[in-house]
Amino acid sequence: MKNNKRSGFKLTPQRLAILKFLEGNKEHPSVDQIYKGMIKKFPTMSLATVYNTLDTLKKRGQVKELNVDPSKKRFDPNTEVHHHIICVGCQKILDVHNEFPLDPPKIETEEFEIIGSHIEFYGLCSKCKNKKET
Ligand code: ZN
Ligand code: MN
Repeated sequence: MKNNKRSGFKLTPQRLAILKFLEGNKEHPSVDQIYKGMIKKFPTMSLATVYNTLDTLKKRGQVKELNVDPSKKRFDPNTEVHHHIICVGCQKILDVHNEFPLDPPKIETEEFEIIGSHIEFYGLCSKCKNKKET
């Protein structure tokens, strides 16, 4: 695999591994989860490398940082517009691909040019709901 010199982003084996871990990953992993997934194969990989790589990928628009989970940042390789639902019991996050037509009040639309929206649903997943009931 060649380094992508033109964009100034060197695809080191460690970075490639992080990219691969994220590719098609629907778990919305946290930094810690990504790190844990990495050190199995790269025992010398530092947490700083994971942070730096995520930061670069974020700036390049290859990964989205989510603030849906109030306890920690989560990362999404799917950068297309979509919404999320989070379980308040286990912090599992699922994608919501429906479109929700919104009609923001005029006073806001006069002051802001709206460039996007993101809806966060929260609830209990079936596992956590069963735990609560038994
Ligand atoms: Zn849950
Ligand atoms: Mn997502």
